[in-house]
Amino acid sequence: MRLAEYASHPEQTRGRVHPESTSGPRTAFQRDRDRIIHSTAFRRLEYKTQVFVNHEGDLFRTRLTHSLEVAQIARSIARVLQLNEDLTEAIALAHDLGHTPFGHAGQDALNTCMQAYGGFEHNLQSLRVVDALEERYAAFDGLNLCFETREGILKHCSRRNAQRLGVLGERFLNGKSPSLEAQLANVADEIAYNNHDVDDGLRSGYLNLSQLEELTLWKEHFPKVQDLYPTASERRWINETIRRIINAQIADLTESVQQALEKLKPASVDEIRNSPELVKFSRPMSEKNTQLKQFLRSNLYCHYQVRRMTNKATRIVSELFEAFLKDPFLLPTQFQRSDREEQPRKIADYIAGMTDRYAMREYRKLFSANEMESR
Ligand code: MG
Repeated sequence: MRLAEYASHPEQTRGRVHPESTSGPRTAFQRDRDRIIHSTAFRRLEYKTQVFVNHEGDLFRTRLTHSLEVAQIARSIARVLQLNEDLTEAIALAHDLGHTPFGHAGQDALNTCMQAYGGFEHNLQSLRVVDALEERYAAFDGLNLCFETREGILKHCSRRNAQRLGVLGERFLNGKSPSLEAQLANVADEIAYNNHDVDDGLRSGYLNLSQLEELTLWKEHFPKVQDLYPTASERRWINETIRRIINAQIADLTESVQQALEKLKPASVDEIRNSPELVKFSRPMSEKNTQLKQFLRSNLYCHYQVRRMTNKATRIVSELFEAFLKDPFLLPTQFQRSDREEQPRKIADYIAGMTDRYAMREYRKLFSANEMESR
């Protein structure tokens, strides 16, 4: 497939921290994608919460299936825009690698615990996973990914963190943009979770169809689907509607990026980096999308049954952190540090790497009298 001039070309990569030979049939970005799929952190995504805890039901999204949906959406747009599909896929598959157990509740709790020690941010942790925590290579820590993949993984970043990230942090300090592949993976993330959270919300019964009638996107598609297929089951109406909303968002995004590209006529990826971000919905779609996001926030993420889970998650994460900080000898040996200043970050790494069920098991082992026999 021919790549556009403004795409990320693998032969022009800014390279890896540890130089490697480039022989073999795969491009640099294909290698990155493959390294991510083979990583330990990637396999853990299967047992990490997106919104619903893994054991709540077999059909809800997990971080793994979410990441696969993001990759699928991002790649299909990348192909139309003649962007680099392999890079887009690599970024999409890696974007949530640093997520804690129990979704955003886990991240917020860990961030609170880490306030005095530099904070915790899942996006920065995704970069830390691929840069430092994975142990796949004998010669170096991390996966030694290309600059472009790491640039895409780091979606946002505080000024303080950007300053210590060197070249990778520069764009946050001087207001520049990442590649189009990175911008695309970012918006695809949003398309994926907004739509699958509606689906999971209905499936769980925390959302119902009459609530959705207030949403413009839903109103544009659901009645039409019912008219076209009056005898289909409710589940099929829902699936067909969500499918159509995703399609509408993809079509809108593709067209609005194409228009922006026609105006700018960028001749290289560096021109993209020096321009404001281009991958955006049209204004009408952006408004509808914001309405959907707000709806999910007030009706699903704040649903009392979701809140009960997040409340428990907060307790598990904070109590584990406090116990380990008070007595680092409770930690598995490889997470203990003789330097006291390094210890909190190592505890955060340990907790962030846990799957939901691993965290629950650790909690029981440490705090439950019934588990005196287990270590
Ligand atoms: Mg995500």
